[in-house]
Amino acid sequence: MKVNSDVIIIGGGLAGLTAAIHLSKFGLEVTIIEKNEYPKHKVCGEYISNEVLPYFEYLDVKMADLMPSVITKMEFSSAKGKIISADLPLGGFGISRFELDYYLVQKAIENGCQVIQDTVTEIEYVNEEFFITTANNIKLKSRITIGAYGKRSNIDQKLNRNFIQKKSPWLAVKGHYAGEFPNNLVGLHNFKGGYCGVSKVENSKINICYLVDYETFKRYQNIEEFQSEIILKNPNLKLIFENSKILFEKPLTISQISFEKKDTVENHILMIGDTAGLIHPLCGNGMAMAIHSAKIVSELILKFYDKSIVSRKELEKKYTREWNYNFRKRLKTARILSKIMLNEKLTSFLIQFIVKFPNLLPKIIKKTHGKPIL
Ligand SMILES: Cc1cc2nc3c(=O)[nH]c(=O)nc-3n(C[C@H](O)[C@H](O)[C@H](O)COP(=O)(O)OP(=O)(O)OC[C@H]3O[C@@H](n4cnc5c(N)ncnc54)[C@H](O)[C@@H]3O)c2cc1C
Repeated sequence: MKVNSDVIIIGGGLAGLTAAIHLSKFGLEVTIIEKNEYPKHKVCGEYISNEVLPYFEYLDVKMADLMPSVITKMEFSSAKGKIISADLPLGGFGISRFELDYYLVQKAIENGCQVIQDTVTEIEYVNEEFFITTANNIKLKSRITIGAYGKRSNIDQKLNRNFIQKKSPWLAVKGHYAGEFPNNLVGLHNFKGGYCGVSKVENSKINICYLVDYETFKRYQNIEEFQSEIILKNPNLKLIFENSKILFEKPLTISQISFEKKDTVENHILMIGDTAGLIHPLCGNGMAMAIHSAKIVSELILKFYDKSIVSRKELEKKYTREWNYNFRKRLKTARILSKIMLNEKLTSFLIQFIVKFPNLLPKIIKKTHGKPIL
């Protein structure tokens, strides 16, 4: 095992693996520490905006090999079932995290990255170096550390990050299903207290993933009761659920999801993906943002190593500036949209408005997405 690396990446999800592939492509020695085994299912809508494709090509990540579904249209409905649809300005694709993360980790290993399956428990920064300890007491050292450990982790507690002190009232449920659903469509359907995304991934499987506030959910005994009492009140969701059969033993769930603002650099650790900030899933842009933030941080780290960035201070300042420039507005728009979507009257009003002005929907979608990552 290599104890010293140029860069240690904590967390081997989309953001961490993309950064590892980028940095190793240019010769840096990279260690990824991931607590879970690959492949593994994750709670995610699994719709990815096409904005990532040019960057993936540059990294020699060939999405077509995974045979994702090609998604060109979206539909959106209110809790009562009023529906509108539009072409997606840029389009996207559907691929399970089970396949995608596994593909990326193999690519990272091919590029020479070291992957350790363990949980990071301690990070110390002393004299310009990071000392990392894992649950199995492995000790590693690097000049740069990237935090890519997702929405919420033991590391956030250790770093005493601001958002961890606040309540996170969201939970999410996801499953893969067999049934009838158009290949090229992503649906976003409202219900009381939340919303549900539906789209196809590889092999014609349907991914159904919903986000709900805990206050609404806790009134029901279990997922089945919640679904039949609340989710199926939307006739579009009723039709989808009644015509599909779950492929998992039971749906996956996660709780304590926080959309609070986070700092992009903490204790000199450069945060990427959800560790730097999570966008509301209704935008379907979290994965593209995770991948894009990996690109931004990787380019700056390469400049730090070739000395065109002369100090850590400059590196951290530039990273924070670029992150804000690329993502801050998107997060703000998403917060506003989520407030509208969680209010039944406002959603109905929005739908009526969009029916009158259909060009508005693609414009709203554009506001929550980025341009192709070149
Ligand atoms: C309900 C829901 C639906 C969503 N739907 C979509 C969608 O349709 N489209 C979209 O683009 N985005 C969607 N998103 C957002 C998307 O899932 C995330 O933005 C994306 O997964 C971020 O990737 P990441 O690499 O930052 O984090 P992750 O993929 O979560 O990776 C973090 C990794 O770090 C590991 N880890 C954590 N702590 C440690 C530790 N201490 N030591 C070692 N490893 C550790 C974890 O095991 C994990 O593998 C959705 C999010 C939610 C909550």
